[in-house]
Amino acid sequence: MKQGIIKSSIQLLIITAFCACSSKINKADTLLKVKEEKGFSKITHVMTKSKQDSLTPSQILQDFKEGNERYSGANVTQRDHSEEIRKIITGGQFPKAMVLSCVDSRVLVEDVFDQGIGDVFVGRVAGNFVNKDLLGSIEFACKVAGAKLIVVMGHQHCGAIKSAIDDVHMGNITSMLANIKPAIEMSQNFEGEKSSKNEAFVKFVSQNNIKNTISQIKAKSEILREMENKGKIKIVGAFYTLQTGKLEFID
Ligand SMILES: [Zn+2]
Repeated sequence: MKQGIIKSSIQLLIITAFCACSSKINKADTLLKVKEEKGFSKITHVMTKSKQDSLTPSQILQDFKEGNERYSGANVTQRDHSEEIRKIITGGQFPKAMVLSCVDSRVLVEDVFDQGIGDVFVGRVAGNFVNKDLLGSIEFACKVAGAKLIVVMGHQHCGAIKSAIDDVHMGNITSMLANIKPAIEMSQNFEGEKSSKNEAFVKFVSQNNIKNTISQIKAKSEILREMENKGKIKIVGAFYTLQTGKLEFID
């Protein structure tokens, strides 16, 4: 009974989103066409349902990899976030992906992948782990809003990872860091100094933390596990290096 209500609610949400946006699709395409004709060389696109439907998870991953090459090469797309574009996207959203990132101020999620308005759902928590709320957010992004790629992104010099290694105890940070501890357990085979001062060890733990988060997503979300098994979504990890701006993908 309860499942039935949830299923109906999801269907209603989907229908509402589609209905709200259908009238905007042609308008968005028309506006962009006019702008292109007026000589805008690098404008943002706006995701529409037909564009979302036409993309596969692998194509989106490739798009994100190429976007990161543009970002790290200081060649990001000039984006149009003017009022007319903002007006169009009020009708609905058809994102390509969901990125789960750390909160670090030095990591600009959309920019790192050279993505624009309406392209990405972003979840952020220090140490990019998942809990029930984040899992619900990712399920919403994929099952309801149609995102086809999940990227779990960790980064170089992560304070949360370093604090977990140092076993910091401070207010609510203590219980938050407990979510990262499994990655430290996974990293005991590291050869070398296992401390937060050793950048290689911090990176090793960060990468294991990304892998652990991906395992948690698959283990704790029936919806996402099923979508992945059916090839409807892809779940990948990525490690971001601050100096280079480059991502190392963990497929
Ligand atoms: Zn961090």
